[in-house]
Amino acid sequence: MLNKKVRVRFAPSPTGPLHIGGVRTALYNFLFARRNGGEVIFRIEDTDSARFVPGAEEYIQESFRWLGLQFDEGVGFGGDKGPYRLSERRDIYKKYVQILLESGAAYYAFDTPEELQKKREEVPNFQYDAKTRMQMRNSLTLPDQEVAQLVANGPYVVRFKIEPGHDIHVNDIIRGDVVIKSDVLDDKVLYKSADELPTYHLANIVDDHLMEITHVIRGEEWLSSAPLHVLLYRAFGWEESMPRFAHLPLLLKPDGKGKLSKRDGDRLGFPVFPLEWHDPRDEGAVSAGYRENGYFPEAVINFLALLGWNPGTEQEIFSLEELTAQFDLNKCSKAGAKFDYKKGTWFNHEYILKKSDSEIAPEFDRILKANGIQVPIDKVTKVVGMMKNRVDFVKELWPLCSFFFVAPENYDEKTVKKRWKEESAQEMQQLRDVLENLDDFSLEHQESVVMKWIEDNGLHTGNIMNAFRLALVGAGVGPHMFDISAFLGKEETLRRLDRAIKVLG
Ligand code: GLU
Repeated sequence: MLNKKVRVRFAPSPTGPLHIGGVRTALYNFLFARRNGGEVIFRIEDTDSARFVPGAEEYIQESFRWLGLQFDEGVGFGGDKGPYRLSERRDIYKKYVQILLESGAAYYAFDTPEELQKKREEVPNFQYDAKTRMQMRNSLTLPDQEVAQLVANGPYVVRFKIEPGHDIHVNDIIRGDVVIKSDVLDDKVLYKSADELPTYHLANIVDDHLMEITHVIRGEEWLSSAPLHVLLYRAFGWEESMPRFAHLPLLLKPDGKGKLSKRDGDRLGFPVFPLEWHDPRDEGAVSAGYRENGYFPEAVINFLALLGWNPGTEQEIFSLEELTAQFDLNKCSKAGAKFDYKKGTWFNHEYILKKSDSEIAPEFDRILKANGIQVPIDKVTKVVGMMKNRVDFVKELWPLCSFFFVAPENYDEKTVKKRWKEESAQEMQQLRDVLENLDDFSLEHQESVVMKWIEDNGLHTGNIMNAFRLALVGAGVGPHMFDISAFLGKEETLRRLDRAIKVLG
């Protein structure tokens, strides 16, 4: 096993938008493969034509493009083990169904839905298995000739014949040796003649084998299928090359118990999808996405990477390279991981700080332009630098610091009441004259001159600064005062002072 090239796969069914848990699964596949010099295959498991949703496949592809995770092989990426879309592999599965039928590992069954329903009503906890199969209509109970006829006419299904009375071991990297009794399994349907398609179980095993998958890393919800998969490998005689399993911990509700659901997102106000999703089945109903909500892809990756894995140190901020270097499936937890969405916001804030001002500026510039503001990019960069530590998302910058670009029209009433004193108009008039005389309007020079003026005249620094801020900003908020005036420049600063003096009197 160890001398084999690591090959993992991400194999979504295109039945809707990719859930954030699916993104985590894919990410762990990437981290594991990159760590081990392996490859990640992108396979589409479109077994269920009834649940096919238009646009879902494109949505999944777009999600990974946004995240910057590039598959090595698969749908849209090429490779010599394709086709990589299940629905294009019909002939391959037929061949393998035949192999199981011929060896006696599987059999034909002809029970109609009505017959099965009737049986379920008659027999409590009915299960199609060793105890019941001989009472059913299948190739084990009917004469050969009738079987041949029924197969020729269809429809039929092919069922896997599970032998009762033995233990099945699933050797899971995260969970260890998981043992279940074969008696609890039913004779799963592997193939349906009606749509000429295998079920997920058969396709999954055949494809993993033919695509030379070495590790199956997937969500915990698939753990219950794993014993059946082990038996299928055995039935095909592929045990030697059976992939190692790793079933990842569930993502849990941020509050309370149970699995994370879309409703938790709606209820608490966070996205559960990487990108916004417009549901074609529901008149385009929109579900929020991390991208549209203003998250950086790096922040989403960092956040998800730590939901179920940690390196055992205090480190929390990881680049993709650092994650790759440290990721270890053996350090994944078995216990579910609470989806602490507030931590996701925290990560985004950390990435705003981590990124350079000029990296963030273009994004803020787009928002400025949308608000009709055209300024040189270095000015945008400067504002980003002054304000970014106060926000979690770039989009929060605009409401917080539009005053850099638009003069206040109104003055916040409460602030006026509190900060604009009897003598403010007169003092601002004097300050205005002091500033007008400055040739050097740099932050440092302004500050030293104004502070000296305050001292020489026995003025109250707090009162002066508060009134000054109100005049320039229109409210009692913002960064360091001289940062603002230096950014606005002399002309604009004087204009705003003049207006405040006139309006507030
Ligand atoms: N098609 C399955 C899904 O939608 C894949 C499960 C697996 O990875 O085996 O997640």
